[in-house]
Amino acid sequence: MIHFVGAGPGAPDLITLRGAELLKQADVCIYAGSLVNPVLLGLCREDCAIYNSAEMTLEEVLAVMEQAEAKGKQTVRLHTGDPCLYGAIREQMDALDTKGIPYAITPGVSSFCGAAAAAEAEYTLPGVSQTVIITRMAGRTPVPEREGIASLAAHGATMVIFLSASMLEGLQAALLQGAYTEQTPAALVYKATWPEEKVVRCPLGELAKTGKEHGISKTALVLVGGFLGTDYERSRLYAPDFSTEFRRATK
Ligand code: SAH
Repeated sequence: MIHFVGAGPGAPDLITLRGAELLKQADVCIYAGSLVNPVLLGLCREDCAIYNSAEMTLEEVLAVMEQAEAKGKQTVRLHTGDPCLYGAIREQMDALDTKGIPYAITPGVSSFCGAAAAAEAEYTLPGVSQTVIITRMAGRTPVPEREGIASLAAHGATMVIFLSASMLEGLQAALLQGAYTEQTPAALVYKATWPEEKVVRCPLGELAKTGKEHGISKTALVLVGGFLGTDYERSRLYAPDFSTEFRRATK
C-alpha cells in the first residue's frame, strides 16, 4: 500500500495525526526534499528506508514503490502542504493503477492556509471577495493561455500565487493589467510556519521592489487583494438580526 501524505507547510506539528501515524508505521518513505521539513523524518522508524524525491525521476520513485510493494511493505510518499496542489500525484496514481498497486491519500495543511495564518488574514471577507484564486506564473511548467495572471486578475478577487516568487516583476505587471491598482494591498509570505517565516506587506505597485529588498525569491506565496486592507462588512451569519437554523434573531 502506498500512502500519499500531506506534510503540511513546514512546522512539524502541522502534519495531521493520521499522517504522523502513517509516517511512524512506514517501511519506506519517499519525501519531497525540496520543501518538506526534514524534522518530520524523525517520526520514521530507525529501519525505515528514506528516499529524497528531489533527486529522483518519476520512474525512480515508481521503482522504489513497486519494489516495496512486492515485499509487502508500507510506503509513505510525503508531499509538501497538501498533495492536491502542484504535487504531481496524478501521474504517480495513474502509474500505480496500471501496476495494480493500491494507494490512499491523506490530506495536509496547504501553504496557502499556512500563509493566511502567518498574515493573520481571512481570504473571504464579506463585501470584499468571496473567491480565492490559486494559481501560478508560467515557468518551466506552462500555464494554459486562458489562465494567464492578467485575465484571472480581472476579477479583483483574492489571489494566492504559488511558485512565482522568482518572477515578481512580471507578476506585478500582469496583476496590474487586471482589476487591481498600484495601491491594492499585497503580501509576500516566505516559509510560512517555519522558524524563518517572514510576512512582508506592501502595495501591489511595490511588490517586486519589496521582494528584492527582503531577498525573497523562493519558497514564498504572493497574496493580493482587498482582504489585506482595512474595509469589509460584518458577517451576516453572526449578525444579531439574522436568524439561522441554530439561533433566533434577537433584534
Ligand atoms: N502542495 C504544496 C505546494 C507545492 S508547490 C502546498 O499545498 O502548499 C511549491 C510552492 O508552494 C513554493 O514554490 C511556494 O510558492 C509554496 N510554498 C510551499 N511551502 C510554503 C511555505 N511554507 N510558505 C510559503 N510558500 C510555500
